[in-house]
Amino acid sequence: MVIPIELRRTLGIDVKDALEIYVDGEKIILKKYEPACLFCGNADNVKHYCNRIICYECIKKLAED
Ligand SMILES: [Zn+2]
Repeated sequence: MVIPIELRRTLGIDVKDALEIYVDGEKIILKKYEPACLFCGNADNVKHYCNRIICYECIKKLAED
């Protein structure tokens, strides 16, 4: 599938970047893939750990537990 370069530039998508695909009724939605925390869904300050994604906030909470 080819995505117009203007669109890629607007969304900051690189050639090999992963995209998420959703279906909404009869529409297909392509979304830039942003890894989000397994626990809270936060996409900021995330870290890959054992093939899972976790944010620093949740790491802190886990460490305090
Ligand atoms: Zn989190």
